[in-house]
Parts: sequence; C-alpha cells; structure tokens
Amino acid sequence: MLLEAHELKKHYDTRNGVVKAVDGVSFALEPGKTFALVGESGCGKSTLAKLMLLLEKPTSGAVRYRGQEVSGLGGRALRQFRREVQAVFQDPYASLNPRLRVGKIVAEPMLAQGDLSRAEIAKRVEEALEVVGLHATAAKLFPHEFSGGQRQRIAVARALAVRPEVVILDEPTSALDVSIRAQILNLLSDIQEEFGLSYLIIAHDLALVEHFSHATGVMYLGNMVEQGPTGAVFGAPSHPYTQALLASAPRPDPDHRLPTDVIIGEIGSALKVPAGCPFHPRCPKRFAPCDSDPPERHVTAPGAWARCHLLTAQTASATPVTRTSRTPGAAGADPLERTAQ
Ligand code: SF4
Repeated sequence: MLLEAHELKKHYDTRNGVVKAVDGVSFALEPGKTFALVGESGCGKSTLAKLMLLLEKPTSGAVRYRGQEVSGLGGRALRQFRREVQAVFQDPYASLNPRLRVGKIVAEPMLAQGDLSRAEIAKRVEEALEVVGLHATAAKLFPHEFSGGQRQRIAVARALAVRPEVVILDEPTSALDVSIRAQILNLLSDIQEEFGLSYLIIAHDLALVEHFSHATGVMYLGNMVEQGPTGAVFGAPSHPYTQALLASAPRPDPDHRLPTDVIIGEIGSALKVPAGCPFHPRCPKRFAPCDSDPPERHVTAPGAWARCHLLTAQTASATPVTRTSRTPGAAGADPLERTAQ
C-alpha cells in the first residue's frame, strides 16, 4: 500500500470537553488508484486529510507511507514526504497568494524543497502549466486574471510540479461552476493515467465519487462506517447511513423525487458522540443493542465491510424498537422531523 491510516484518532481537548474529530479510522490507498472519503460536513473527513498530510499530529494511531510510519518525521525525511504527498484544496481563490505571479506560485514548493536549480524550476513550471492546459505565458500573470476553473488548474499545476506520488484533493470542484467541474475532473483523470498518481479525494458530490474513485470510505462522526470498492459501496450499500446518503443524492432525472423518510435529524456533535453505534439517534433501523454496543466490522463483499448490528447474526433476529423509544437526550433533532440531506 502507498498511503495508509491505521486506527488514527484526533481528539481535541476543549473547555467543553473532548472533541473526537477522528476516532479510530483505518484505510489504505493503493498506487495509481483513487480512494474517496464521503460523509456530511462535520464527519471528520477534512481533519483526516490534514492528518494524512502531516499538518496535524494524531492523538494515537499511525500514518504510514510505503509501509513506514511517518507521523513523527522531521528534517529531510519530512521534506521528502511533503514533496511526494501534495494537496489541492477546495477554494482556488483562497489557496493562491494574490500577490504572487503564477510562475512564483507554482515554483514555491520546489523552492521550499531547495534541491533544484532556477533553470530546472523554470522548466518544471512551464511543463506543469502545459499539463494542466495553460500556456507558459500564464506564469507572468496574477491569480485574479484567471477564472475559477483556471485557478484550480494552477493549483493542480503547483501540486504536480514537484512530481508527487499522491495528491490529496479536498473538495477540488465544489467551489467551481458545474460546467467547469467536469473539465477539472477529466483533467485530474488524465493526469492520473499519464503519471500513475494516487488520489485521496474528499467530496460531498456522490456522483463525482462514483465516477472518479476506485474505493470509497463513508464517515460518520469521526468513524468509518462502511468501506470498500466503489462499485460495491454504491451498488449494494450495507450501512443504513450509506443507504440514506445515496438515496438522498440528487439525480439528473426530472421525475426523481428525493425520498423523505431515509434519515432523521442532523449530524450530531463530535463533542458528544453517542454511545453504541454513533448513527443510532438518526437511524430508522436501529435495534435494541444499537445505543449501547459499538458495532464490529462485518464483511459485506470482497474487500468491503460495514459496521452495523443489522449485519451480524447476533442481531439479525432482534426486534426493532419504535422511534418513540429513542434514547432521551441523544444527539439529533426531533425524530419526527424528516430531512433529505
Ligand atoms: Fe442503525 Fe443499529 Fe446499524 Fe447503527 S448499528 S446503523 S443504529 S441498525
């Protein structure tokens, strides 16, 4: 495996208690493949991306790159990791320094690495701009002289110029017009094919994930609740949360109506993660043990698993409780309130 999270946790001590932003997550990114992290805002996927980029220190667990633990790297080894694992962020307006010309922006990571001559850097800037479909003269301009899609191309060029192995894409198209999104995705796809890059992508857009990723992990309140090949997760989702997410995703079909009964309330707070299954206050299928016992992983297809008591033989025959017996004070809104996410 190229990049792995092993039982990663990130807890923040606050005045009000411990925020469990990431709470024991594992996954692995294979060379040349794309792994997608999906889930509602607040599920911990962006914190997980920061942990994988070594921008945050884990509370426990490990980040492994090429089989080596990298969480505690420093000096030259850390610089090497930063060269090989790059990032493209959501907002191309905020991620590019407006005072720098594009050539300098793309050159910055190489200047920070300090192992290339000026001439080599200039050549790589030109090549990277060309790969993302921009003319070399773009290097002389400022970010404000470009459209949103072009700015994201510049951000991609900056990541590519150091010749990385992995690019972490944090909502790479969500700040762009719909018409531009496909262009950027096609560009990222072409680049992956040409250079054999691996992507870890964080996205809300499930259609994008289904089209773009080889494997998918579904996060809820800092936990990974389902994971596997994208075909398996999208084709036969096993966890009620994954089922609800997919059922409520908009489709380009005028006759399709969003379901109104798949999920209740809003995502809870990572400050008060419910006992048992973290999804139980919102789960329309919960059983008697769901509010007390954390579900174990259950294999659902080759290479795929989900954490849900419904999937175990032990609870398969349990009697579902009615909504009115919901745990008092559990996170989430009124159970009678229905929302399509
Ligand atoms: Fe729902 Fe229980 Fe499965 Fe959690 S473990 S998703 S509450 S059925």
